[in-house]
Amino acid sequence: MRQARLFTKTVKELPKDETSYNAQVLIRAGFIDKTAAGVYAYLPLGLKVLNKICHIIREEMNQVGGQEILLPALTPKEAWVTTKRWDNFDALFKLTGLENKEYALGATHEEIVTPLAKKFIFSYRELPLAVYQIQTKFRNEKRAKAGLIRGREFSMKDLYSFHASQEDLDVYYEKVKAAYFKIYERLGLSAETYLTYSSGGAFSKYSHEFQTLTAAGEDHIFICEKCRVAVNREIINDLKACPECGNKKLREEKAVEVGNIFKLGTRFSEPFKLKYRAENGEEKPVIMASYGIGPSRVLGTIVELFHDEKGIIWPESVAPFKVHLLSINENEAAEKIYQTLIGEGIEVLYDDREVSAGEKFADADLIGCPIRLIVSAKTLAAASVELKRRAAKTGELIKIENLVVTLK
Ligand SMILES: [Zn+2]
Repeated sequence: MRQARLFTKTVKELPKDETSYNAQVLIRAGFIDKTAAGVYAYLPLGLKVLNKICHIIREEMNQVGGQEILLPALTPKEAWVTTKRWDNFDALFKLTGLENKEYALGATHEEIVTPLAKKFIFSYRELPLAVYQIQTKFRNEKRAKAGLIRGREFSMKDLYSFHASQEDLDVYYEKVKAAYFKIYERLGLSAETYLTYSSGGAFSKYSHEFQTLTAAGEDHIFICEKCRVAVNREIINDLKACPECGNKKLREEKAVEVGNIFKLGTRFSEPFKLKYRAENGEEKPVIMASYGIGPSRVLGTIVELFHDEKGIIWPESVAPFKVHLLSINENEAAEKIYQTLIGEGIEVLYDDREVSAGEKFADADLIGCPIRLIVSAKTLAAASVELKRRAAKTGELIKIENLVVTLK
């Protein structure tokens, strides 16, 4: 992509009420724009990153047999009344349509997916089943000061699984847990992300969160170094020790909840009367679980983790472009290199703007693509380009003829 044609530019003026680092730097670098508190627009660079995060999540959900669907964001009040959550769900966005019909903007989708499943699940032969979606969700948060980490509108992947027995659910739950670890590894977050025990509700002793350590986090977790797990604040008060080894020397850290998995049991199948006929003819309630991960929150968390004073340092797996190509008054030679690289399927942002070299360097650091290539009279004199990794202090000259091989 040519930067001179890119919709949006790096900006110097920030919205005055924006206090979170992740939103500040993403706005400055031209990835997002703030529409209202907790509500952001994704610009081409930001959407590229968000789509890459979603792609990784999607691949791993497909691997565990999830079938992708898309549920509505506008959900009828009646469904929430059925589960007694119309008045009890924290921060539910409610609105009134024509003829005083009431709706909620989806904050989660158990109320929609359970009656949907009831239309297609009748017998044990249809189980187990797992469906997921990646969708925009809404929460009427009192505070929305953490940028993409806590928005009023945000993206969410939610997987729901349906089982004939608790045993079957337990096996699948572990499979999804493993898929989540794989997702965080691919996102570059695994070193900082802890499986965290949290309260399980009526149907299991524990549920699990995935918490990523960062000072920007709003949660507090307590880490057992021996087991490499954590417990959240809610249950440390009851437990006062690691649930796996009994260790009482736990280290407190701030963290962001980047995912959660929860055994719902019959919490939703009972009120919606979602049942199946077992092999012996007996009618039984379907056992359910839900598994969430927020791509927009993950994006904000990555930025909180990977940056320096100059800007973002994207992990390659989610970078908007692998290569940022900068022409320093050598557009003809740079154009040739640009064409060669995109011809090889390498993702390149090509800075062909009529601005100073200093501005190009500063913007490249701010935007944070993993590899910066400079084409200047000096590099061309050596039949080379300068290659510098965003995370490295210095660059090196690479012969143009070896460039594609080096990048691949
Ligand atoms: Zn332990």
